[in-house]
Amino acid sequence: MINWLLKQILGSKNQREIKRLRPIVAVINQIEEGLRSLSDEDLRAKTAAWQAELHPIEDRAQLKKRLEEILPEAFAVVKNAARRLTERGHQATVCDQVQIWNMIHFDVQLIGGMVLHSGRVAEMATGEGKTLVATCPVYLNALSGRGVHVVTVNDYLARRDAEWMGQLYTFLGLTVAATQHDDQPSVRRAKYAVDVAYGTNSEFGFDYLRDNGMATTKEQQVQRGYFFAIVDEVDSILIDEARTPLIISGPATVSTHQYDKFKPLVDQLVRKQSMLCNRLISDAEKAFAEGQAHEGALNMVKVKLGQPRNKALFRLMEEPDKRKVMDKTELSFFADSRKAELFALKEELFFTIDEKAHEADLSDLGREFLNPDEPEAFILPDLIMEFSEIDMQKDVPAEQREAAKEDRQKKFDFQRERIHNISQLLKAYCLFEKDVEYVVEESKVIIVDENTGRKMPGRRWSDGLHQAVEAKEGVQIDRETQTLATITIQNYFRLYEKLGGMTGTAETEATELHDIYGLDVIVIPTNRPVQRKDFNDRIYKTRREKYNSVIAEIKEAHGLNQPVLVGTVSVEASELVSRMLKREKIPHTILNAKYHLQEAEIVARAGIAGSVTISTNMAGRGTDIKLGSGVTGVGGLHVIGTERHQSRRVDRQLRGRCARQGDPGSSRFYVSFEDDLMRNFGAADRMTRIMERFGLEDGEELEHPWLNRSVETAQKRVEQRDYLMRKRTLDFDDVMNKQREVVYGLRNDAIDGEDPRKLILETIEEAIPAKVTELLVKTHDEGPNYGALLHWCNTTFPLGLTDENAQFSTRDTAGNAKFLVERVKSAYLSKASHEDGTALASLERYILLNAIDRLWQEHLYGMDALREGIYLRQYGQKDALVEYKNEAYGMFVELMGNIRGEILNNLFRSTTNLMAFEKFLAGLPTLMIHNDPVEGDASVEAPDGGTQTLRLEIPKRAAAPVTVGRNDPCSCGSGKKYKNCCGRTA
Ligand code: ADP
Ligand code: MG
Repeated sequence: MINWLLKQILGSKNQREIKRLRPIVAVINQIEEGLRSLSDEDLRAKTAAWQAELHPIEDRAQLKKRLEEILPEAFAVVKNAARRLTERGHQATVCDQVQIWNMIHFDVQLIGGMVLHSGRVAEMATGEGKTLVATCPVYLNALSGRGVHVVTVNDYLARRDAEWMGQLYTFLGLTVAATQHDDQPSVRRAKYAVDVAYGTNSEFGFDYLRDNGMATTKEQQVQRGYFFAIVDEVDSILIDEARTPLIISGPATVSTHQYDKFKPLVDQLVRKQSMLCNRLISDAEKAFAEGQAHEGALNMVKVKLGQPRNKALFRLMEEPDKRKVMDKTELSFFADSRKAELFALKEELFFTIDEKAHEADLSDLGREFLNPDEPEAFILPDLIMEFSEIDMQKDVPAEQREAAKEDRQKKFDFQRERIHNISQLLKAYCLFEKDVEYVVEESKVIIVDENTGRKMPGRRWSDGLHQAVEAKEGVQIDRETQTLATITIQNYFRLYEKLGGMTGTAETEATELHDIYGLDVIVIPTNRPVQRKDFNDRIYKTRREKYNSVIAEIKEAHGLNQPVLVGTVSVEASELVSRMLKREKIPHTILNAKYHLQEAEIVARAGIAGSVTISTNMAGRGTDIKLGSGVTGVGGLHVIGTERHQSRRVDRQLRGRCARQGDPGSSRFYVSFEDDLMRNFGAADRMTRIMERFGLEDGEELEHPWLNRSVETAQKRVEQRDYLMRKRTLDFDDVMNKQREVVYGLRNDAIDGEDPRKLILETIEEAIPAKVTELLVKTHDEGPNYGALLHWCNTTFPLGLTDENAQFSTRDTAGNAKFLVERVKSAYLSKASHEDGTALASLERYILLNAIDRLWQEHLYGMDALREGIYLRQYGQKDALVEYKNEAYGMFVELMGNIRGEILNNLFRSTTNLMAFEKFLAGLPTLMIHNDPVEGDASVEAPDGGTQTLRLEIPKRAAAPVTVGRNDPCSCGSGKKYKNCCGRTA
């Protein structure tokens, strides 16, 4: 009821919005009529005139207002250009194929364009021409000269759309380009400089990370701001892709994991568990045969806990009466009163696997097996307790207590790593199946995208999971990588001043789009009424029965020459259908999901009479399926889904592939109780009950609108869970995001600033007082420590200070700070005056960047470890996020302090050339050069007893860090390729 009410309210809001936009459409069309008499040149001149007016506008509000004002005319100009291209049968080569332009914007497309311009999501069904819709807002906003980005799901579509829609843009005098994965930085830079840049989300995101986290000069940066982006297939990018953050990694400085060490143990453990489960299953069978249903069910539950994908268990579960008692038994354990019993049940296994939550947990039995001598080795000690125990030992000297704590902390960290490694290995073994979740190629573990079935080389599971899978498969473990820069897709897209999106399926995800991106969804009516017929789901007890019926349905349609598109949720299922069709001698095409271009060509042919095409759900997205001749008469394209996907949106996407632009078409989904969705999200028991009520026999099918709803309830549950997971990733990244903004801001100041000297002097002014306070006030036990201050000064700056000439004790803290700031500043200016004028600015940038980058990367490493630790602490009932925030904040404050300190340290340790440095030193009466400076590594020492030692380093900055390719030479110096060698950094 409430849902219904909400729908009415929201629905009417949507309608009101469409109604509001209609009159503007009329205005656009009227203007467009007037434009028809212009010459091409006059039409094009409008672009130039607007550009001349808009380019100089700095004020954002003013720019926005002007764009609003010229919107109707600008849209009309684009539509008129489309008309001109159509009328003259304009030809163009798009992705190496000749195309003839024949599109003039429909009214609903203009509405869609306005929705995009206003920074919202336009939901427009497949085939409504979203590619063309984008051209109006793109043109309008690009007139500002600030660069508009159009984001596509793959490189092929970026190129296709840029080349195809580019016809319009270039006709009107705008420049357009598509970034491609292989582009070199100079090419990228040129491509971002155009008015309209097409590209994939990861190209955009990685360029951002490289620009802000790695480039060391302005020339190395390729992007130029984040003004307006339109995201095509916005659900796929902002929701599906958003689950794995973009990560650039490089060789790690530290490595602590022990996956390879634990692998043989876990291997045995998994085998033991498997034997145990098989025994339990045969016991269960025996029990059932002897009429001991309860005994049998209990054993089934145990196997489900310990080996949820056990094949024999699946077979038993196919028998409805057994399944029923099992479900009942299982459910009963979740009552609070039976917690202890459930726990005892788990303790009979070596470990338990929670398929839904994606978790693995060792039991005592498992712990003992792994380490019979010291089972506690796999229990995390209670650090807080141990610390307070140590603190209570008042008679032990403070230093000893600190040492003891440090010792405990170390032990804790080691233990934590060990537990973490084991748990990730268990997951790798029990939840990640080869050739389903990943494939192994050329000794690499490559993730397979669950939606498209496409391989995603270069992506890695986070949190050590990837290494665990590598250990399981016995391939080289990429131990030596560490995060150098990372951002979530969410936070990347939040950079834009304005964001618009389009897709056929956004409505079900409207809440998430609103909460996370501030994007409202507007559903745009179709150009022609939709003729698609969606049949009820067909539901079966077993997969076998289900697939048999799928084949029968394909056969029937094929007999009528009706084209069929079969959508599956995995590559495995696609192959199964293909094998079954081969047996029936039905010719068909299967999408191999390897090449986007090929994929697009295959999908495009799916509408031809009699064709049967099998593809994973989302493969070929963005490609238009046109009906072949005669197909309209046999009902158009028929879409079959062999399984309901976890998300309703993906199902809607599949259905939407037929019946475009008013064509006929139909769709049907098949479901079995053995599908993952049904097994895991409680739909199966409810359905079993319903089926019994209907008196369903084995092998019979069932269909009813109620059942569709039941499936949808399960889907909603999964959607909710996935949303929370993404939200959580984001909550954690938000902490990082703020830090990243500060550090990237600082970096950019160092890179862009006309005068890096200013930053250096500011650092002196901030860091010295902090250090003076630390040394003189914070160690107040024995009064101000002037000796320490003198020592610090003389090991950091060449001031040649002594007790006599510094006279620290005659000033207060603030006075001493002021005194030192002045001294250091003037020494620095004196040094700078000897340096090479032109090289000096880059030397100063080097001093700043060097400090920021080195410490930021160390910090990222620390943050990774913190996150890992926090996840484990969650068991302690504490709010992990709050703790993470607090500790991350502390670490960040420390980081900023360290960066300043490092800059101070390096002020007098780098030079543009040695002669300049010598000259500078010569001006300091109390110092002399100790070593031979020509070596590039000199010490200087004060004559009065060695208080002053400075190591001199000539900047020989390594190139910006990059991801170490597996074909690069290993850094241990063996000369072998990284992937074939030890993979260790020397
Ligand atoms: P979507 O992305 O919405 O699924 P596409 O942009 O791929 O749709 O376009 C689908 C098909 O519709 C394409 O073949 C395109 O050429 C055609 N099309 C789009 N707009 C028009 C139009 N205004 N007039 C005629 N054909 C159009
Ligand atoms: Mg499209």
